[in-house]
Amino acid sequence: VAPAAAAPGEVLLGRYELGDLLGRGASAKVYHARDLHTGEPVAIKSFPNPRAASGGAEVRRPGAIEREAAILRRLRHRHVVRLHEILATRKKVHFVLDLAGGGELFSLLDASGRMTEDLARHYFRQLVSAVRYCHARGVFHRDIKPENLLLDDHGQLKVADFGLGAVATDGNLLCHTLCGTPAYVAPEILSRKAYDPAKVDIWSCGVVLFVLAAGYLPFNDASLVNMYRKIYAGRFRCPAWFSPALRDLLRRVLDPNPDSRIDADGIVSHPWFCDGAGDEEMAR
Ligand code: ADP
Ligand code: MG
Repeated sequence: VAPAAAAPGEVLLGRYELGDLLGRGASAKVYHARDLHTGEPVAIKSFPNPRAASGGAEVRRPGAIEREAAILRRLRHRHVVRLHEILATRKKVHFVLDLAGGGELFSLLDASGRMTEDLARHYFRQLVSAVRYCHARGVFHRDIKPENLLLDDHGQLKVADFGLGAVATDGNLLCHTLCGTPAYVAPEILSRKAYDPAKVDIWSCGVVLFVLAAGYLPFNDASLVNMYRKIYAGRFRCPAWFSPALRDLLRRVLDPNPDSRIDADGIVSHPWFCDGAGDEEMAR
């Protein structure tokens, strides 16, 4: 295939032609782009280069971009955004990533702000399959929340943004870093003790599942202190339309005690997760 030529005036970054801004986070901007060699669309996540001392935009701690890159390089899974390559200029560092062109998972919520239990199960299976894979590779996301759950052009879930990720280099890893997003954060993080990052990811997956099927957060309050109280106590109420099996699973996932909380293997053998089998995620 002959490389496509860029039209005059288009911004080129190596072999990539930069397009529209897709989104922004605390540390980076993400653009649509096209690989001129293959014609394939990609996403480019651009960080201010920490080596270029300049004021203005929030610049990541030194080493944080390298850490995110090291994590992404370890991962190759159909439900995790893949890193193709890194381009560095004097002012910026660019990650070339799989494009998740279908927007956020939460864009699929209907007018009442939720989705059917069957559809929620379909995406929850994809999420758990990605999280199990990451954990088996010693990678913990630690910021699972709607903004970081994207869809590709085929409607497949892609977990993005490992900017707060942690890696276990030798077996067990206990973390102390306070991180995550209040409504999705596990109680043991709030209590500022050492925590198991795998259990923290499982908790956040439970909050996501609840939101998908309910249309609202399990733990919420106008006052942050009251919200934290509910999280500590694991106090939430399921809406009337939740099936008994879904309620049971959520009780086990949103267990405020990390020692008795269900783990990923427990989730995949839970009746609600297995219900209506034949979903291709099951076998993988
Ligand atoms: P940050 O680390 O600054 O939070 P993210 O990686 O979360 O940055 O990206 C910010 C936003 O850009 C995301 O919430 C999402 O809307 C969009 N985005 C990120 N990665 C992709 C991608 N691979 N494809 C499409 N959009 C993306
Ligand atoms: Mg983000």
